[in-house]
Amino acid sequence: MNYSSLSKDVVSFIKNVTNQPSNDIPISLHEPYFKDTNAGIYLKECIDSGWVSTAGKWVNEFENKICSFTGAKHAVAVTNGTVALRLALHLIGLRNNEEVIIPPLSFIATANAISHLGGIPHFVDIESQTLGISPSKLSQRLEECADYRNGELINKFTNRKIVAIVAVHVFGHPANCPEILEISEKWNLPLIEDAAEALGSWRIHKNNKIHCGLFGQMGILSFNGNKIISTGGGGALITNNQKLADLARHLSTTAKKNHQWEIEHDEIGWNDRLPSINAALGVAQMEVIKERLEKKNKLASRYIEHLKNNEYLKLITSPKNCTSNYWLNNIRLISQNTEELLLQRASILKACHENNIFIRPIWRLLNKQKFYQSCPKGNLQNAEFEEFRIISLPSSPQLIK
Ligand SMILES: *Cc1c(COP(=O)(O)O)cnc(C)c1O
Repeated sequence: MNYSSLSKDVVSFIKNVTNQPSNDIPISLHEPYFKDTNAGIYLKECIDSGWVSTAGKWVNEFENKICSFTGAKHAVAVTNGTVALRLALHLIGLRNNEEVIIPPLSFIATANAISHLGGIPHFVDIESQTLGISPSKLSQRLEECADYRNGELINKFTNRKIVAIVAVHVFGHPANCPEILEISEKWNLPLIEDAAEALGSWRIHKNNKIHCGLFGQMGILSFNGNKIISTGGGGALITNNQKLADLARHLSTTAKKNHQWEIEHDEIGWNDRLPSINAALGVAQMEVIKERLEKKNKLASRYIEHLKNNEYLKLITSPKNCTSNYWLNNIRLISQNTEELLLQRASILKACHENNIFIRPIWRLLNKQKFYQSCPKGNLQNAEFEEFRIISLPSSPQLIK
């Protein structure tokens, strides 16, 4: 098959699935949407009250809605997902020059949050089924590099402490957390989940439906502009551990002691709380999240239906025993020939962009960023296999009328 007919095919099935026959209306990857919500009313109420900053009812209400939807016992709303992850990492004890295990296939923030605390990402390979960190590769890597010395887990190649594992739920597809958790417990390494993309994604485990972010000690969500709900910017730390939640709340509000008028702080905290004005947007969207997820599911089904007989590409679907939110729908090119793969990829991206369809390839691997090239890593062959074959498709729920 020649590449131009493959890319024409992609342009046409995207237009078909999204019901956008004309080229005049750009189709973006994922856009915020408020028309089906009370966002305007709540914002006005928030502004009229004058309580636009962190005090007032909106932040609490937003946190309560996150808890009741996800089943988390506690949620702490902060200014963005990166900050939530940095807080979680600080709370499990990450300090300067210590390593945290993460997969190389993620948004840059997963690694940056570690660096912001002076830590060092340590890359462990993914598995193709979930696109998340691979339990078997994780075990293998720990066997090969980790050593207990004086009760601490040390990377014997770098002599640095390894202090945590961060699993990422890529595109909203749940990583294999039950198995990852088993390994994390065996090695006494806390598990944090980057569920920035996974609000509305669950995994069935021992007959329970567990929301992404609630397998490990803490999970984080993001409400950035392109996420499943958007507060402009925003994020949350979710956990079932009261002590961690209290500490997160304390540290995110300058670690100020609770007193009516005295201003005393018991450590160096941050100013990370989500402002009310953003939380009001979040409350409005949490009221329609179920409808939104249904639309996303419908959109995914349409993509699956259109692609079921395609011999060049496949849609990436929800892993077994999981409900994925299908935050982004993705195709995977299946060519085994690298040269052909790169040509197909380039031609699809170019044709779509020429037609105002703003699809996007998956991230370049984090270990290839110039500032992360010298970080420790295991064998990353699965991530390398996927890097150039995955392309994200337009996935806004409002594409379904
Ligand atoms: C969006 C995202 C983040 C960061 O969230 P922000 O709110 O943009 O700071 C972290 N990890 C992943 C995987 C993300 O997609």
